Amino acid sequence: LSLFLALADLIYPAVCQTCGVRLKFTNTKFLCQDCLDEVSYTQAPCFLSYEKKVYFDKLWSVCIYNGVVKKCIHLFKYKNRLCLLNAFEEMLTNFTKKFVDIEKIDWLAPVPLHRTTFSQRGFNQSRLLAKSLSKAFDKRLCNCLLKARPTVSQSGLTKHQRSANVKGVFKIKKTTNIKDKTILLIDDVFTTGSTINECSKVLRRAGARSVEALTLARGA
Ligand SMILES: [Zn+2]
Repeated sequence: LSLFLALADLIYPAVCQTCGVRLKFTNTKFLCQDCLDEVSYTQAPCFLSYEKKVYFDKLWSVCIYNGVVKKCIHLFKYKNRLCLLNAFEEMLTNFTKKFVDIEKIDWLAPVPLHRTTFSQRGFNQSRLLAKSLSKAFDKRLCNCLLKARPTVSQSGLTKHQRSANVKGVFKIKKTTNIKDKTILLIDDVFTTGSTINECSKVLRRAGARSVEALTLARGA
């Protein structure tokens, strides 16, 4: 295997995805240590001030959405740099071990994309993150939510506009029974919380016992 990697490295040299520095071929995170050291991790558990009614019980975010992490999430979502999933997976897994009471979680539920966005992008970043956690902690990944209509991008909208933009947009799939389940919602970025809150509302109304949320990053 190492010979194979060495040969692959000659053809496709591994470089840090954010700064471009050459990496050892054994680096599977595709980020150099200097860039990894720049990640600003949050203190956890993390609750943000939120004046509206909140439907989730807890919220955790692994790091702050700035610098290296912001760049990585953009590359991952919009430039197809799926190789960064390894780095995200390690960050999420380490954080979850330390801070999240994963034992009491029944299902992991990714925030869904509308099918048009999904077919344009080819993947749902939140589902990939949830899948990593599902493997690491042997928890069921449940695609119980669907996004019924497309929405305009949340970035650039005010808090009020974001909330209106996602209102009523998420539905529970008819085939899933989430009654009395404790659900951990997974998303890439938490900004004002409109999306997570709307998903949580739908899950609670469908009978979930508790909804918690874990995101890779949150707004600074
Ligand atoms: Zn770097």
